Amino acid sequence: MSPLPEFLRPLVLSGPSGVGKSTLLQRLFAEFPDKFGFSVSHTTRSPRPGEVDGKQYHFVTQQTFKELIRQGAFIEHAEFSGNFYGTGFETVRQVQQQGRRCILDIEAQGVRQIKQTNLNPVYLFISPPSMADLRTRLQKRGTETESSVQKRLATALSEVKYAKEEKAHDIVIVNDDLDRAYELFKKVALGEEIVGDNLPPLDD
Ligand code: ADP
Ligand code: 5GP
Repeated sequence: MSPLPEFLRPLVLSGPSGVGKSTLLQRLFAEFPDKFGFSVSHTTRSPRPGEVDGKQYHFVTQQTFKELIRQGAFIEHAEFSGNFYGTGFETVRQVQQQGRRCILDIEAQGVRQIKQTNLNPVYLFISPPSMADLRTRLQKRGTETESSVQKRLATALSEVKYAKEEKAHDIVIVNDDLDRAYELFKKVALGEEIVGDNLPPLDD
């Protein structure tokens, strides 16, 4: 099979929960309704207010999720903060069949697994300006209990460490000012070259 043109190579978006990935994606899909396709993952977590089955996620039971694993339906899957998440082969295939660039929003275990496949995506890491900002965003979003915020912040540190120590991503964007971050994100999504940001020291 001939390699996909650069623009159609899947884009794997990762970065700590609460950093602003969904916010950036919403803007992109609103501005370019026909160019991109979101890889709608399967998850066992409960829908948040406003989330629609089949749009943000396919919300499934643990039993269904396990059955899908057994059937080999997932390119990658992981447990995150007490819930399971996975990317379906079929999901990505359908987006690509439409001639759209497929964008995955996944956490670090998924990134590691994708690296073992032949998907050949571009890896983009969205970083918070600081851990304090990340905490504020997660709390302000109002979707998590305090214990869920704690879990997500603990995981955030290891996600940043992975990005920093293993240089696992092709590009880093710091989501400090949303408009600035979006302009960079848009360029990457459209397959344009950018000078990425440096990872800030996020040890606080
Ligand atoms: P993720 O999808 O990475 O978990 P969200 O997109 O849900 O994160 O964003 C988490 C919260 O942070 C949301 O309430 C969102 O409005 C807010 N947010 C996103 N980007 C910024 C930014 N640059 N500055 C301040 N708040 C932001
Ligand atoms: P949330 O519960 O906030 O929607 O997502 C939690 C984390 O799971 C985020 O870091 C998100 O990127 C990640 N995630 C969402 N879908 C998938 C998936 O299919 N696979 C993996 N590995 N992570 C996912």
